[in-house]
Amino acid sequence: MQKIEKNLNHIRTQIITAAEACDRDPDSILLLAVSKRKPASDIRRAWELGQKDFGENYLQEAQQKIEELKDLDICWHFIGAIQSNKTRNIAETFDWAHCIDRVKIAQRLSEQRPAHLPPLNVCIQVNIDHESSKAGIDLAELPELASTIYQLPGIRLRGLMTIPAPQETEAAQRVAFARLADALVSLQQQGIDCDTLSMGMTQDMPAAIAEGSTLVRIGTAIFGERD
Ligand SMILES: *Cc1c(COP(=O)(O)O)cnc(C)c1O
Repeated sequence: MQKIEKNLNHIRTQIITAAEACDRDPDSILLLAVSKRKPASDIRRAWELGQKDFGENYLQEAQQKIEELKDLDICWHFIGAIQSNKTRNIAETFDWAHCIDRVKIAQRLSEQRPAHLPPLNVCIQVNIDHESSKAGIDLAELPELASTIYQLPGIRLRGLMTIPAPQETEAAQRVAFARLADALVSLQQQGIDCDTLSMGMTQDMPAAIAEGSTLVRIGTAIFGERD
């Protein structure tokens, strides 16, 4: 069996196992295949195996692949940092953007979203472990940013995204994910209708699922190590 097929089967099994271990429906967890720095041919192969959602971090690289794969019904997620000069292209070509941490970027995406497309799905990125190396807001800033973003017509606030600091054990990994899950509940109590917890990568996926992840972003475990 080829590498991507074997890896996809393996990760799907891991999602089912992790979901069943905490009495969750495996279908409530979306697998996002992170294809940054991997060729379009790898994406096509995964698509042929039933994978429909793909995540990219770098706009130029993503646009080339999106163009090359436009015959496929792929749902494209932008999971990189967004600079102001990139918002138009992202608003025009993607279905999701996971790393919103400023009102200004959200406003531009909303204004620039073409009218013939449904609102762009977005998540607010939370810097859950207060790391200076990472983007994202502090949880204290969340209620205000969320209520502002929620009003914008061209985007749809779907939930929260995070990349926690690495931890040695699954128990330790779960702490940060639990805090993000609590924050989503707080948003819902604030009257914001959102449903997505974008959390869990190759190294911490079972912990994220145990804490309620609805979308896991997996690169290495599907496509192999990146150069
Ligand atoms: C690269 C990346 C991933 C995938 O990471 P892996 O460890 O390869 O699974 C997920 N989320 C974001 C935001 C990334 O940049």
